[in-house]
Amino acid sequence: MEKEEKIRGSDAISSRLGVISSHLITQVPVTMAEKEAALAAVPSDSATIFDKIINKEIPATVVFEDDKVLAFRDISPQAPTHILIIPKVRDGLTGLSKAEERHCEILGQLLYTAKLVAKQEGLEDGFRIVINDGPKGCQSVYHIHVHLIGGRQMNWPPG
Ligand code: AMP
Repeated sequence: MEKEEKIRGSDAISSRLGVISSHLITQVPVTMAEKEAALAAVPSDSATIFDKIINKEIPATVVFEDDKVLAFRDISPQAPTHILIIPKVRDGLTGLSKAEERHCEILGQLLYTAKLVAKQEGLEDGFRIVINDGPKGCQSVYHIHVHLIGGRQMNWPPG
């Protein structure tokens, strides 16, 4: 191989490495602890920690509540604002993948509540909604919940 070709080849490799490393950097936000917690969680219909929050058996910082929906701050925030929005009655919705037609109304209410809470939290410049589903989706609590995350610039693609 001629010297010039070798240089062009190494430029291409380092440019590819740059792209790959930038992808790796944007994927850091999911911490190992969360991933491990999600992989350790067994998908089930049993009561979860969120039932205890709904029943006020353990404390949570509630930011919104009505007869159907509860929103409270995540105990391990991934951004300056990180709020979980959950239905007070799970009704089989351990995760989004278990949704049936009868759940359309509550699913809409969870998202609409996310919009209301985003406004209440002053997230006018944007925010992110996440619903993790199942072990591969990094779900650790099997009571459907919408993550409302904001207060910093988000990256894409998510991790
Ligand atoms: P996921 O991994 O999508 O199932 O999200 C579950 C979320 O629940 C995680 O972000 C946890 O930090 C959060 N979490 C777990 N226990 C509590 C708690 N007691 N209060 C508030 N958030 C919690």
